[in-house]
Amino acid sequence: MKRPPVLTSEQRNAALEKARASRARRADVKSEVRKGNLSIEDIFTLIQSDEAVAKMRVAELLESYAGVGKVRAIATLDRLGISRTRRLQGLGTHQRHALIKEFSIPRNDAHDGTLIVLSGPGGVGKSTVSREIRKSNDFWVSVSATTRKPRDKEVHGIDYIFLSDEEFDRGIGNGYFLEWAHFAGARYGTPRQPVLDALHDGKDVLLEIEIEGAKQVKKNWSDAILVFLNPPTWEELVSRLEGRATDTPERRAERLALAQDEMAQAPLFDQILVNDEVDKVVESLIRLAHSQRS
Ligand code: ADP
Ligand code: 5GP
Repeated sequence: MKRPPVLTSEQRNAALEKARASRARRADVKSEVRKGNLSIEDIFTLIQSDEAVAKMRVAELLESYAGVGKVRAIATLDRLGISRTRRLQGLGTHQRHALIKEFSIPRNDAHDGTLIVLSGPGGVGKSTVSREIRKSNDFWVSVSATTRKPRDKEVHGIDYIFLSDEEFDRGIGNGYFLEWAHFAGARYGTPRQPVLDALHDGKDVLLEIEIEGAKQVKKNWSDAILVFLNPPTWEELVSRLEGRATDTPERRAERLALAQDEMAQAPLFDQILVNDEVDKVVESLIRLAHSQRS
């Protein structure tokens, strides 16, 4: 093996200083990625002029994305055929494209659609509104995955993608979900790629999801508009839950208790709409998406 060069103490100090500055630079960049201020495309531009970033391992960059830990970073690299020790400067063109497809965060430029997240207490009418929106064709409406069992008349692939616990676990591990959360003893998640594709195609996208998932989307995607649907009155919410034939009385009582907690979270949302009439809510959502574009 070649002997290391003999360095003077100034040269050693300079080398140590350079290594320290590179580490600090990489830490800054990772922190900006975590906050959503630097996209994967920005990183690939940056590495053309920034040696410290160019030498960062790809796994280290991926781990700095919010919601991506070591396990998902490694699983993603394996799936895309990228060596676990590869540095950013060593990526080939196809590998860069694959990473952009996987990690790009759409920004609301003229061609991208708007992402609207509709949430609110159980029974307020979220799925009724989302069904109407689906008919209107004004939005592309995401189909969620869930581990709960299908209810009467629910169709796999249309109402939900019904997954086993093992399949859902695999989805979490390989980055299939944009967000996911536990709700009422089951897990629910939004498949990521169809949402990105629809937004890139310029379609406005609607996610009808519970509150924890909505907060996750906002954290990763500040352009998303979070809409909270409130009932006209508490009594009306109780009556809508009572009217639903799909729940047992015990389940309905649980849902009411939960609804109280859920309604306390309304102030975290960008917009609050009252679901007195479904058509009015649909119109407001369409207006909101259009106003974001203009
Ligand atoms: P969520 O998806 O929020 O749990 P649903 O869409 O299942 O709620 O609606 C709960 C019940 O309320 C359903 O019986 C539905 O028909 C009814 N509902 C929804 N929106 C309205 C509305 N604007 N006026 C009256 N009833 C409504
Ligand atoms: P249900 O079982 O009544 O269809 O839905 C229960 C709850 O799960 C609802 O509040 C619904 O909005 C929420 N939900 C449906 N799909 C998703 C999803 O993909 N992610 C999250 N976080 N919640 C979801």
